[in-house]
Amino acid sequence: MTAAQNKPAKKKNTKNEEAPTVGVVSLGCPKALVDTERILTQLRSEGYQLSPNYEDANVVIVNTCGFLDSAKKESLEAIGEAMDANGKVIVTGCMGAEPEQITKEYPKVLAVTGPQQYEEVVSAVHKVAPPPHDPYVDLVPPQGIKLTPRHYAYLKISEGCNNRCSFCIIPSLRGDLVSRPIIQVLAEAERLVKAGVKELLVISQDTSAYGIDNRYQAYPYKNRTVRTKFIDLCRELGEMGIWTRLHYVYPYPHVDEVFPLMNEGKILPYIDIPFQHASPAVLKNMRRPAHQEKTLDRIHDWRKTCPDLAIRSTFIVGFPGETEEDFEFLLQWMQEAQLDRVGCFKYEPVQGAKANELQGAVPPEVQEERWHRFMALQQGISAARLAKKVGRTLDVIIDETGKGGATGRSSADAPEIDGIVRVSGDGMKPGDIVRVKITASDEYDLEGDLAAA
Ligand code: SF4
Repeated sequence: MTAAQNKPAKKKNTKNEEAPTVGVVSLGCPKALVDTERILTQLRSEGYQLSPNYEDANVVIVNTCGFLDSAKKESLEAIGEAMDANGKVIVTGCMGAEPEQITKEYPKVLAVTGPQQYEEVVSAVHKVAPPPHDPYVDLVPPQGIKLTPRHYAYLKISEGCNNRCSFCIIPSLRGDLVSRPIIQVLAEAERLVKAGVKELLVISQDTSAYGIDNRYQAYPYKNRTVRTKFIDLCRELGEMGIWTRLHYVYPYPHVDEVFPLMNEGKILPYIDIPFQHASPAVLKNMRRPAHQEKTLDRIHDWRKTCPDLAIRSTFIVGFPGETEEDFEFLLQWMQEAQLDRVGCFKYEPVQGAKANELQGAVPPEVQEERWHRFMALQQGISAARLAKKVGRTLDVIIDETGKGGATGRSSADAPEIDGIVRVSGDGMKPGDIVRVKITASDEYDLEGDLAAA
C-alpha cells in the first residue's frame, strides 16, 4: 500500500467544529492496520475528529512499516510528506522500534513510538491537541475530579446510536454507535472510585448495544479477558464495591443476564428502560428498538429473578397516529407492568425528525387529556409500590445534610429524576451509605429514621 492509498479517512458526521482533528496515514500489513484502527477508536471515543486532509489536521499520525527496505523507504517518504504538508507528526509502527532511523532524517517529528504502543500514541496526541471537553463523553471535568460533595458520577460508555427512532435526531447529530473500549471505561471507573465516587451511573444512547460496533473487542484486564460488552461491563463494575446504576437499556434478549447480578447485590436492582409506548402500532411508527419483545413477560421474569428490582421508564403520549385504542392499550399495559418510576411527555415535533411526516397528528387538547389520565394512573401505582416499603430497612446514599437529618436516595432512585428519602438522624455526610428504617411514603418519596448499621 502506498501512503497515497491510505490517506486520512473521510470525515463523517462532523458537527463538532471545536473538536481537534487527527490525520492518519497507515502503511503496512493488516496487523498494522488493526493498530491504526485501535488508535483511531480510542481517539474517536474521546471526541476527536478525523481529518480527510493534512491541512485541516491538528496533528498527523503515520503508522509505519519496516519489514523490507522498500517499505522503510516508503514509510520515510510518507513521514516527509506529512512533515511538509502539516509539520506536526507522530510516528508509530514497526519503524518506531528503531527511532534513530526516523529522527536522523526528520529531527522535528513530535514523537516516535513502536508497534502496538497505542497509549503512547494517544498521549502524544493529547499533548499536541488536548482532547475536547464534552460532558457527554468525558467523565472527568477539565478542572479535575472534585472529591466533595459529588459522590456520584456519570459513566458514558459510548457515543451515537445505531437506531433510527422516528421522533429522534440524535443519530444525525452524533452519528452511529461508537463504543469506548472497555478497558478505557473501566480505567475511568477505577479513577472515579479512587477519587471517592460511590455511585456510577452508566449512560449512553443505547447501553445494551455496547460493543456491537467494535464486535465486542476483547482486552486483557487484570488477570482475565474482558469484552467490550454490556454483561462484561456490568460484571467488572460489579466488582468495584460501589453502586452501579444502569440507564438507557433496551430490552434486547441478552439484557436478561444482568438480573442475577442485581440480585447478588453487584449491580443496583434498578433499570432504566425508555419504553416510550406499549401499543405495537405506535411502537412501529416510532421505529423503536426491541419493540417486538414480549415486555410484560420479561418484566415478570426479571422480577422473579430480582424481587427488589425498580424499573424506571419514560413514555410519549399523543404520538402521531396514536388512537384512543392505542392509548387505552398503553394504560392497560401500565397497570400490568407496575413500573416504579415513570416520566411522561406529550409528543412534540423535532425539526428534521421522520415522525413529522406521519399522518394523524393528535390535537393538543387530546394530548393534554391523555397525559393527565396517564399520570393519574401512574401516581396511584407509584404510591402503592412505595407504601409497600414502609416498615422495611433500606440502604440510602446521602446527598445532602441539614439540621437533624438528611436527604438521600434508595437503590430505586436515580439522582435528579426519581424520588428521595428524607432521613431523620445525625452524623450523616454526603456520600455515606446508611441504613434507614422507612416510616412513611407518598406518591414519589419516602421518609425514615437512621437505623443502626
Ligand atoms: S431515541 Fe432511538 S434513535 Fe434516538 S438515541 Fe434513543 S435509541 Fe437512538
